[in-house]
Amino acid sequence: MERIYTTQAIKYIGGRIKLCGWVNSRRDHGKIIFIDLRDKKGTIQIVFSNNLKPELYNLSQKLRPEWVIEVTGEVVKRPKGMENLKIETGTIEIKAETLKVFSEAKTLPFSIENDGYEINEEKRLKYRYLDLRRPRLKRNLEIRQKAIQFIREFLIKEDFIEIETPILTKSTPEGARDFVVPSRLEPGKFYALPQSPQQYKQLLMVAGIEKYFQITRCFRDEDPRADRQAEFTQLDLEMSFVSQNDILEIIEKLYIVLIKNLFPEKKILKIPFPRITYSEAIKKYKIDKPDIRINKEDKNELAFAFIVDFPMFEWKKEEKRWDAVHHPFTRPQTEDIKKIKAEPSEILAYQYDFVLNGYEIGGGSLRTYKPEVLEAVFEVMGHKKQEIRKKFGHLLEAFEYGVPPHGGIAPGIDRFLAIVLNEPNIREIMAFPKTGDNRDLMMNAPAEITQEQLKELKLKPLSLKAKAPKAGLVKKRKGKNEKDKK
Ligand code: ASP
Repeated sequence: MERIYTTQAIKYIGGRIKLCGWVNSRRDHGKIIFIDLRDKKGTIQIVFSNNLKPELYNLSQKLRPEWVIEVTGEVVKRPKGMENLKIETGTIEIKAETLKVFSEAKTLPFSIENDGYEINEEKRLKYRYLDLRRPRLKRNLEIRQKAIQFIREFLIKEDFIEIETPILTKSTPEGARDFVVPSRLEPGKFYALPQSPQQYKQLLMVAGIEKYFQITRCFRDEDPRADRQAEFTQLDLEMSFVSQNDILEIIEKLYIVLIKNLFPEKKILKIPFPRITYSEAIKKYKIDKPDIRINKEDKNELAFAFIVDFPMFEWKKEEKRWDAVHHPFTRPQTEDIKKIKAEPSEILAYQYDFVLNGYEIGGGSLRTYKPEVLEAVFEVMGHKKQEIRKKFGHLLEAFEYGVPPHGGIAPGIDRFLAIVLNEPNIREIMAFPKTGDNRDLMMNAPAEITQEQLKELKLKPLSLKAKAPKAGLVKKRKGKNEKDKK
């Protein structure tokens, strides 16, 4: 007999079926034992009565929550008045005929019945595979997948092509620290994990792709912050021969239909999404990601907005130099090189942020593709020519072979979903998030590597423990698992 899902059982009333899953709960009524069996799709009530063969009835008495079992039996309608209309299978039950126990389960470290917000989060993260059995988290993962699939289908219909870009790459400036990976074949050299595929997507425009997107992971080694993750997911997008308006319009269209299709209970406050200049936002709201909702208590109100016309440069006090507000490839709103160099504080950029309910959920820009403008920008930022060549030579060279005007944007997937799902933080919509200080409590990462690995990479083992100020912290974090390591 082929195994079916609990929610399919309704089609088999009077027939026999096979189900597999976890014991969600059990109620022992003496002569009768009720088991709620849970699988990917839902739960169903199984009945074991004492007129079954004794071995079977005895085995059913042993069942405990979270044991993994297989049951075959007859699908019958529940007696009148015994229906449970709260669950999809509540009008039927299964009269068990056979029972197989695949595996037993220890008592879980926490309950998975309710939403779980009240449970210590470190515990939830350590046993994330159990935490994910919780219906709320399962639902979040399912909706996440649906949203991503929707985005993919939408963009593919709009003639975009999804292209994977490397994870082992070179530093790209997004304003955070890089995670680095040592090279074994070239000791002393390092790859950087991408803070974003920024340079790759621009190179794809040089390659003539014209419309690129990717649901991509970005890696940023930032200082511990409660609601940040070292790796997060962006919808990364780049287009050629477009204006700022073209980019904002496609994003607006995508998010409107996405909300309409997947979150119909939500109300978008204003369509088209308001476009607020940076200076207006600062003047009126004192912040560049204003929450323009009318009723902030309403869980279903979505106030999208674009913040536009950011200044091109900001003055870094400590470093005593101008820096790009977004990144150096952002196109200034003037091509007058003299003006860029003489009055950097006056220059606006074709840069925009995408804002939802007071959160920045994305940002992007038109890019500078004229070498002389890019050079002027780098000069304002105080970069030496040689240094520019070393860092961005590949991009500058590419621009010498026929580069189209281009621009893009990268909305974050995690934050957006946390907002529309009314979740308090982005960890709730990620399968395996890390703590605020970048630890994976389930895998116990970061972790030491073996002496052999260090040797192969020509890295010195950490015999400098006494000198390294962070070593103590790392050791403490490992906690009791430390002793498991050789
Ligand atoms: N790469 C930028 C970021 O990750 C977005 C963009 O300019 O397209 O913020």
